[in-house]
Amino acid sequence: LDLDQRPPGRAPLDVLHDVFGYESFRGSQAAIIDQLVSGGDALVLMPTGGGKSLCYQVPALVRDGVGIVVSPLIALMQDQVDALEAVGVRAAFLNSTQDAMARREVEQAFREGDIDLLYLAPERLRLESTKQLLDSGRIALFAIDEAHCVAQWGHDFRPDYLELSVLHERWPQVPRIALTATATEATHREISARLGLDDAAHFVADFDRPNIQYRIEAKDSPLQQLLRLIQTEHPGDAGIVYCLSRNSVEKTAQSLVDRGIDALPYHAGLDAATRQRNQSRFLREDGIVMVATVAFGMGIDKPDVRFVAHLDLPKSVEGYYQETGRAGRDGLPSTAWLAYGLQDVMQQRRMIDQSEGDAQHRRALSAHLDAMLALCETVECRRVQLLAYFGQQSTACGNCDTCLNPPSSIDGTIPAQKLLSTIVRLKRERNQQFGAGHLIDILLGKRTDRVASNGHDALTTFGIGGDLSDVEWRGVVRQLLAQGLLAVSPDGFGTLLLTEASSEVLSGARPVRLRKEPERVRASRSGRSG
Ligand code: ADP
Ligand code: ZN
Repeated sequence: LDLDQRPPGRAPLDVLHDVFGYESFRGSQAAIIDQLVSGGDALVLMPTGGGKSLCYQVPALVRDGVGIVVSPLIALMQDQVDALEAVGVRAAFLNSTQDAMARREVEQAFREGDIDLLYLAPERLRLESTKQLLDSGRIALFAIDEAHCVAQWGHDFRPDYLELSVLHERWPQVPRIALTATATEATHREISARLGLDDAAHFVADFDRPNIQYRIEAKDSPLQQLLRLIQTEHPGDAGIVYCLSRNSVEKTAQSLVDRGIDALPYHAGLDAATRQRNQSRFLREDGIVMVATVAFGMGIDKPDVRFVAHLDLPKSVEGYYQETGRAGRDGLPSTAWLAYGLQDVMQQRRMIDQSEGDAQHRRALSAHLDAMLALCETVECRRVQLLAYFGQQSTACGNCDTCLNPPSSIDGTIPAQKLLSTIVRLKRERNQQFGAGHLIDILLGKRTDRVASNGHDALTTFGIGGDLSDVEWRGVVRQLLAQGLLAVSPDGFGTLLLTEASSEVLSGARPVRLRKEPERVRASRSGRSG
């Protein structure tokens, strides 16, 4: 007779079949699960939709005791528990939304081993009572979801996550799995260090999403550009439109509705009931366009989102990847489209300058923005650049805007010198703030009130920029900012400043390459929005 320690029917593959009803493991799921089942730690980098949940749910069912899942997504815990209970897994959660009664019931169930999985908000681990509770039962494993939240260099740092180092100090024998969809080398290392995962096996999945077409264009009239995308390529399709502010979410959603598009707003300023209603309509009905801030989307699993549009520049490549990754989970062709302009760069630089936190934090934010700008301004394949950011080598994809429509780059040294030397001349006038618009007026020889009253029509650079349009000049400013050849003053007026590298351009020691805007943008004269 075979006296295996394991109860029969509890092999991982059996759990996958019998409980979840799936045929086979995907990618490295089987290897990850084996690592946990045999008591080892794991660090898992897998894109959104890659199937991270099973990596801890299955071993929690295979091993003795309760699997503890730490997640910051309190709003999704009820859904996750419901989904597990629907397939017969005993699951519960503890978070601040519960009353004392409900909490006590869950605690009781944990002590008696009546549940398989317990979801915890990270802040609960600050409480000694929670730690004592965990001591009073059997723990199968700790799963740390959204593990990038522990990284101060990351884009989504949550101080409560620092508390999670307590897990291996207090329960060293319990295996741990940290999971994230967004991590560069640096974030990866920080997760490892902060969570003490030195001996963890690393599992890095393929980040490529071949069915997503990446496109980034210059913003001239954002709403018109968005409408063109929806009406010509995605009529009747479900999509997500990301905006930076609540106000622009509301305005954009209304504008789409006015044009007969089934759009709904979603942002943290809406009451919980409205948010819930809009979210479930988006999930259940066909062809809804959700206009949202980044508050929307974490944990949303809708397979047929056909496009993700960004009307404002994401703050980081990680954020961009995660948000665009909500498109095309079903594997069918989908579009990731971003419009960005000079205002985006100015605004984000300003937000970084005014952000709370120390110089190191600001440098981190700045580095994130620079990487995002480099992706926007690249003349190479977007996908190659995106994957390289996640440490993955690839070759030109043939399915992004730069592959399909290779932008030419032009020698921008002379326009750059014209612009920079205008700034040099204005700098002599102290206490004056002149932003991009004013500079461009001078270059174009526009005798506006402000130009005339400041006597700027007498500058030697007045009118020397007539070979480029207003929109093209804004593109020059944007790209010089992206290349670090210009800076924005933290004065809040958008005053443009020279950098150390600017003087090399002015002296002729450093040539400047600029990405040539596509014909449509160059022809546009409306360009005050971008
Ligand atoms: P993530 O957390 O990485 O974003 P999920 O764990 O939510 O991804 O999984 C995404 C989807 O893929 C879910 O609908 C899940 O049920 C499904 N899935 C995951 N693994 C498998 C598998 N081995 N076979 C079939 N479907 C799977
Ligand atoms: Zn490409």
